[in-house]
Amino acid sequence: MGLFNRKPQEPPPGRPSIADQMALARQMQAQAMQWQAQAMQQAAAVQQALAQQVSASGAAVGSMTWARQVLAILAPAPQGFVKRCSCVVCGAPKKLPAVTAYVYCDYCAALIDYDLRRACEGDTTPGPGYAAAVNAAQAASRAAVAAGDRDTYRELQRTVYEAYAANVPMAVSHRASNDPGYRAAYVGYMAEFALARAFDPAAQALEAEMRQRVIGIRYSGGMISPTIAPDSFWPVADTLAKQIDNSRALYRSARLAELDPDRAEHLTGKFAWSGFCQGWLGMLPADAAERLLDQAGLANEYVPVQPHDGRPRHCGGCGGRFLALPGATAVICDGCGRTMDLASAEIPCASCGATMTLPSGADGVACPFCQSRVERAGIR
Ligand SMILES: [Zn+2]
Ligand SMILES: [Zn+2]
Ligand SMILES: [Zn+2]
Repeated sequence: MGLFNRKPQEPPPGRPSIADQMALARQMQAQAMQWQAQAMQQAAAVQQALAQQVSASGAAVGSMTWARQVLAILAPAPQGFVKRCSCVVCGAPKKLPAVTAYVYCDYCAALIDYDLRRACEGDTTPGPGYAAAVNAAQAASRAAVAAGDRDTYRELQRTVYEAYAANVPMAVSHRASNDPGYRAAYVGYMAEFALARAFDPAAQALEAEMRQRVIGIRYSGGMISPTIAPDSFWPVADTLAKQIDNSRALYRSARLAELDPDRAEHLTGKFAWSGFCQGWLGMLPADAAERLLDQAGLANEYVPVQPHDGRPRHCGGCGGRFLALPGATAVICDGCGRTMDLASAEIPCASCGATMTLPSGADGVACPFCQSRVERAGIR
């Protein structure tokens, strides 16, 4: 079909320089580091290898424009479409379009899917604060592993993921923006996952393997539009697949589901493949890019938004409007990421008359429109 009807030799219009592309690749690798962590070791290896191979480019911070163009070729923008998926918790099909890459259930607010295409629409350039945190923790983290000091390692990783959530908000679920409980749980979970990998010999062996294979990648096509020789690339993808298997095993043996605020074991592979694809897709010939998306299971599927009888409500946290489908008990506010408790009717503000839905677990809020206190019915 039409997804790959553009000839590989024909770059998208306005394709930026190799410096931009390499900056993009580094950004994507930095992003992969946070994506539920399977990509962690691979990301570092890729960054290193890219730096070794193309460090002369002196790449500055680039933009996401090029990634958007690549993804536009892979899957035309779905206006009025919703990603085809169902909730792993309650079984409901996804009906309302998601506004971020994190696709939450319209009925129970569970995280059900991750949308690579949406991910490429946001700017996920890590801010300098994140790079500083990574650099600051690097040597001490290595020393902690060498000394078998798990507590120190965990604390160092917490600083890294705190910096990630603070500096790259677009790459983390929007739930982390205004829900301190979620954010704290996310940081703790990611740090524990990093710890599990750092102290797992198999994970470390795979990291070394990844480093070797990334170094073995061959580029052609000149400086303007570097292209990866696919036969030198598939071993890298194979190692990632092994890393994902290993991380799944660690997720279970380290009991990470108890820490994971999204309880998203079903997405661990998808997060890793998504980060990987964002980093590499654009440098592959079109037929190899298609094969990678197939192998990753990321060929996006969209279905048209069906008519629904959603009722408008308003978030008591940010004032944003959202839709509640009949039978829904909780949803994530698209505007601010708070979990909306749909168990009760909307509550009016005594001062300005605006009605609103309270966040789960909140006894009251400051009215987002006039700042007056609005309390849950029956509470004074
Ligand atoms: Zn659900
Ligand atoms: Zn909100
Ligand atoms: Zn008010």
